[in-house]
Amino acid sequence: MDKKYAPETLAVRAGQARSQFNEHAEALYLTSSFVFDSAAQAAARFSGEEEGNVYSRFTNPTVTAFQERLAALEGGEACVATASGMSAILSLVMALCSAGDHIVASSGLFGATQQLLGNIMSRFGVETTFVAATDVRAWEAAVRPQTKLFFLETPSNPLTEVADIAALVEVGRAAGVRVVVDNCFCTPILQRPLDFGTDLVVHSATKFLDGQGRVLGGAVVGARKLTDEVFKFLRTAGPTLSAFNAWVLLKGLETLKIRLEAQSANALELARWLEAHPKVARVYYPGLESHPQFELAQRQQKSGGAIVAFEVKGARAEAWKVVDSCRLLSITANLGDTKTTLTHPATTTHGRITPEQRAAAGITEGLLRIAVGLEAPVDLQDDLDSGLQLI
Ligand SMILES: *Cc1c(COP(=O)(O)O)cnc(C)c1O
Repeated sequence: MDKKYAPETLAVRAGQARSQFNEHAEALYLTSSFVFDSAAQAAARFSGEEEGNVYSRFTNPTVTAFQERLAALEGGEACVATASGMSAILSLVMALCSAGDHIVASSGLFGATQQLLGNIMSRFGVETTFVAATDVRAWEAAVRPQTKLFFLETPSNPLTEVADIAALVEVGRAAGVRVVVDNCFCTPILQRPLDFGTDLVVHSATKFLDGQGRVLGGAVVGARKLTDEVFKFLRTAGPTLSAFNAWVLLKGLETLKIRLEAQSANALELARWLEAHPKVARVYYPGLESHPQFELAQRQQKSGGAIVAFEVKGARAEAWKVVDSCRLLSITANLGDTKTTLTHPATTTHGRITPEQRAAAGITEGLLRIAVGLEAPVDLQDDLDSGLQLI
């Protein structure tokens, strides 16, 4: 579809190819394989001489529709969808790195990504150096002749540190290193890393792209030359997105813009309220003037996003009091849902790393993370206040 359309138009229209029945909503093709007209066609499809579907581990029309819609939104040439966000990251590393290669990654990465790069890929000879997302010189200094990728998340989880994408792209280009951004927190509605020169964007579609906590999914978006490499791994190794999940995600994308804008506005209101609360020691939110990278976030993102972290005055006992007093906020580690979620990172998402690693990452015992949904901010405030008053 013509990429000159506005994002909200692409979100509801891009990627749909109607079948012979001329259905209005996107069709769900629940089929594992596709039938050929003749032996010759089967041979041509298998050899790649003729384009077309063969088997849903390779391609499926519903998955293709989702891929095209997300590629249009990110401003990328092509997209490969995967079974989860983690399989998107695994597939891209398997496609673009070999034994002996090296990755530089931001230190505040999503826990499973840290495990994958730091502990699993290292067993296969791909080594990762973790550096502070905001320290551009540290990225430059970490580059080796074998460095293939820069991998970063911005804003980071849970402390919402904002990395300078354009500056890291400049360092990466000068060193011949490809830059990959996990755009899970902002989505293309708030930030388009490819516009800053990033080579690839990865997503956990499980989060805001679905947006209603229903399915797992992931994606890699960028130049076709690179996504084709990821696709070659995927069609053989098999962490493919199911057609059903692709269909749910297609419908999720249709409301992405209005959800993100509303959730982000709610988050800003909540962050301001928390910052003024006497029982709160510190708030981390890129939309607040007090955020260390406020100016950068203003340039790079359309708004602060829907994730707010804050420290209560106290440690674990006080933070848990707030969690346990909530009647409305869901105690769950998932994020990006229309329902607001609350997490105590030190004992959940970051519970498996050592206390020293947690301290280095700035994850204190008093820290809480909120992924703001669509409830009225006043109701969220009342819920949190009941626990904060107990401190
Ligand atoms: C959740 C998440 C992932 C992993 O995605 P799954 O769909 O759970 O596999 C990767 N990166 C970030 C930033 C995430 O929040």
